[in-house]
Amino acid sequence: MEQTKSINPATGEEIATYERIPSLSAIRKIEIANNAYESWSKISYGERAAYFKKLAAIFEENKEAYAQLATQEMGKTIEQSRKEIDKCVLIINYYADNIEDLLADEKVETEAYKSYVTFQPLGVILTVMPWNFPFYQVIRFAAPALMAGNTGMLKHASNVQGCAFALEDAFTKAGFPEGVFTNLNVKTETVKTIIEDKNIVAVTLTGSEPAGRSVAAIAGENLKKTVLELGGSDGYIILEDANLEAAAELATFGRLQNNGQTCIAAKRFIVVDAVYDEFLSLFSKKMKEAKMGEPTDESVFYGPMAREDLRNELHEQVKKTVEQGGELVLGGEIPNGKGAYYPATILANLAPGMEGFDNELFGPVASVIKAKNEQHAIELANNSQYGLGSGVLTGNIERGEQVALQLEAGSSFVNKLVVSDPRLPFGGVKNSGYGRELSSYGIKEFVNTKSIWIDKQID
Ligand code: NAP
Repeated sequence: MEQTKSINPATGEEIATYERIPSLSAIRKIEIANNAYESWSKISYGERAAYFKKLAAIFEENKEAYAQLATQEMGKTIEQSRKEIDKCVLIINYYADNIEDLLADEKVETEAYKSYVTFQPLGVILTVMPWNFPFYQVIRFAAPALMAGNTGMLKHASNVQGCAFALEDAFTKAGFPEGVFTNLNVKTETVKTIIEDKNIVAVTLTGSEPAGRSVAAIAGENLKKTVLELGGSDGYIILEDANLEAAAELATFGRLQNNGQTCIAAKRFIVVDAVYDEFLSLFSKKMKEAKMGEPTDESVFYGPMAREDLRNELHEQVKKTVEQGGELVLGGEIPNGKGAYYPATILANLAPGMEGFDNELFGPVASVIKAKNEQHAIELANNSQYGLGSGVLTGNIERGEQVALQLEAGSSFVNKLVVSDPRLPFGGVKNSGYGRELSSYGIKEFVNTKSIWIDKQID
């Protein structure tokens, strides 16, 4: 039987192997999930919330173990892994505490005796997930979708199956009925068979653009709804009135958090001419000072990338950008020794047509771009195939708000890195995907938004 391997990216050592399941076993598990749906969809919000409260408690009790597992499997610093588990608890509690309001019937005044909109679950939903936030991404799907009364099947990234099974185990320990949440360790090719299965009603994928296109095409042929959360290479505009020291600090964190592998993280820094040189010098100093190292060492700022192949691909993108005329200001060399490490790297003076401008750099590499002025900076920011999370740094918040409104992205923040927050919708436009997660918008993606009309008697 085929196996998946979890490899510690800090050392290159194998941590564990997990057996893949064949498609027939996956179909059987989907049947179980569909049977579970029959009863799970009928219990009250309060009963479902009670299960989720237990799940939050399991996450709190196992915080250190889960955090260590995430760090071992994908290399993020232990501090950031702990924060990821805290965020899972936050999201679970948010949906458990607010479900009645989020999915409350909406009364509509019509000529009817009574008319309203109600929200009903759909059935078994498949979620295909990436490795970069191996616990949080799954919870961001599962908390709202399951609280709404659906059941969920997880196809997690192959390199984080330890986290995938830990998640399934957490649901079991919290007492969820069998089939409400299931991990499927299947091959990518099996995803097609799963989507085609009659019991799967919808699918969501968080990951790369090619994976999104493939899943959306299969789902489209089968008339099944999709939500896609894909890549980003969003612009962060730095205006001449910004506090440059703070901007350099924020940019460094933005580019190195999660070892540079966050979809919404700042990737292209678009700096107006008047402060370009000063920003670049402050940013380079801070990026150089950031300590790279073993992710369990609490003193390091960033660890290795999640896999060696991804590190090597990133390096090729850096080399290509330099060949195209980009200026390598810092880093850009694969270090000697074990592990999938890549140093903090800055590519400057980038322009449209260069790899580092046009495509996502999913690692600790920053693109710095010079703009003539504010309007030019907005044009450069919007000159992207992506539109996930962008921002503007300025000393004038009214000006910042006007810029934010002109940026083509699912989220645009002023004087802050884009973060996901359960109270706000999260998602992208353009090739960053479609649909929303989180908030009331997210929970309503996987429900039947149903109209009820009641007349007193037949006319
Ligand atoms: P990926 O290679 O697309 O993998 C994501 C998931 O999709 C994995 O479970 C993967 O399985 C599966 N997959 C890959 N190709 C597939 C296909 N053709 N059909 C069905 N499933 C397929 O992406 P990644 O490298 O893990 O993650 C990095 C990307 O995700 C970046 O572009 C990042 O920006 C994006 N991302 C977006 C968000 C967001 O919320 N918008 C959040 C996080 C990451 P295997 O592991 O078995 O290949």
